[in-house]
Amino acid sequence: MPKRNISKSQHAFKSAVTKMPGGVSSPVRAFNSVDTEPVYIDRGEGAYLYDIDGNKYIDYVLSWGPLILGHANPRVVQDVQAMTAKGMSFGANHLSELALTDEVIKRVPSAESVRFVNSGTEATMSALRLARGYTGRDLIIKCIGSYHGHGDSLLIKAGSGVATLGLPDSPGVTKGTVADTITVPYNDLAAVEAVLKQHPQQVAALIVEPVAGNMGVVPPIAGYLEGLRSLTHRYDALLIFDEVMTGFRVGLQCAQGHFGVTPDLTCLGKVIGGGMPVGAYAGPRAIMEQVAPAGNIYQAGTLSGNPLAMTAGVATLEQLTPAVYAEFNRIIDKLTTGIETIGRAHQIPVTVNRAGSMFGFFFADGPIHNFNDVNRSNLTRFSDYYREMSDRGIYLPPSQFEGLFISTAHTDVEIDATLNAMEDTFAILQK
Ligand code: PMP
Repeated sequence: MPKRNISKSQHAFKSAVTKMPGGVSSPVRAFNSVDTEPVYIDRGEGAYLYDIDGNKYIDYVLSWGPLILGHANPRVVQDVQAMTAKGMSFGANHLSELALTDEVIKRVPSAESVRFVNSGTEATMSALRLARGYTGRDLIIKCIGSYHGHGDSLLIKAGSGVATLGLPDSPGVTKGTVADTITVPYNDLAAVEAVLKQHPQQVAALIVEPVAGNMGVVPPIAGYLEGLRSLTHRYDALLIFDEVMTGFRVGLQCAQGHFGVTPDLTCLGKVIGGGMPVGAYAGPRAIMEQVAPAGNIYQAGTLSGNPLAMTAGVATLEQLTPAVYAEFNRIIDKLTTGIETIGRAHQIPVTVNRAGSMFGFFFADGPIHNFNDVNRSNLTRFSDYYREMSDRGIYLPPSQFEGLFISTAHTDVEIDATLNAMEDTFAILQK
């Protein structure tokens, strides 16, 4: 397989590394974990990305999840263009934020009241402040290998880029903050109960990705989410579902609707902004009304509820119907069955995990239930796989610790092309 020509991207990156940390605006974009240089993107269209050297890729990153309708979805583009002509920011109330609020409340079981912010990080940080202010308690529980954005309290034993770079705890987070965050393995109810028992009346909230998506994709085992719900009730702690990634990806009513477990607070981001910078936190009115100016827990934002982001969100959510999720299911079925078949044929151990329109596979024998299991993956094999697939025009997240996504623009054509590329790649890996 001839290597791609990425000379224009290489030239740009060489310039960027001298004046941006690592040459990027967000760590995972540097691709150093797979020993590859990143490409610069010129444009996206449907399921495809085009780099500045003219290479074309089938995209399974989709801006790290938001683009559930693919790149430059015509309705989203049209609505955002129309809004742009009216103004890009008002710093005041406008009807598109009310329309997105209604969409969220209609579809997310726990949401009676919604506050918009500008990123998933802001959503989780704000939800924690609310949980602490509401309960009058300081401690929070999070899972090892979960990523909830880069807020200090949550940057402890985190997944995603933190795990990829092997930086379990970041310098710059104070000892006091670290002490207030207690970590437990994902899918382990006994560990949660032990912490709650050990710290009576001190735990404000447990925050969890209902399907872990930042250590690769790891779904909850049967009874896990229900168990978290009853334990947090029993110990008067709030249950926060971080649905920044799973929201509208796992199902039309997010993971909480799919699994039938309603948290107290929900964090959203990614899909609800249709590709624009956005986040939100939501919950019952009784709790959300503690947020200023209704209550005295402060949180604000110059660009929060930005009209372009709200418009892109509405145009996205309005196109998500039950039929869309049925098709996601069919496509993911085909893809994951194909991956398992190719793994078996080449005697390369793979474990495939999936949830709605997100999926991932590990170069390891299953089952994979938590971060310890994920760490059994063969990372060298992953890097080799990654480079071969890139040269074949498949754009993947450059780490075993990231999930993959499909969009409504991913059809049988793209899946067949992807499986063909995998077939060739696995043949090379087997040698
Ligand atoms: N929570 C989860 C579950 C996420 O996956 C992410 C980002 N991948 C975040 C929070 C942070 O969101 P953002 O990058 O928009 O700050």
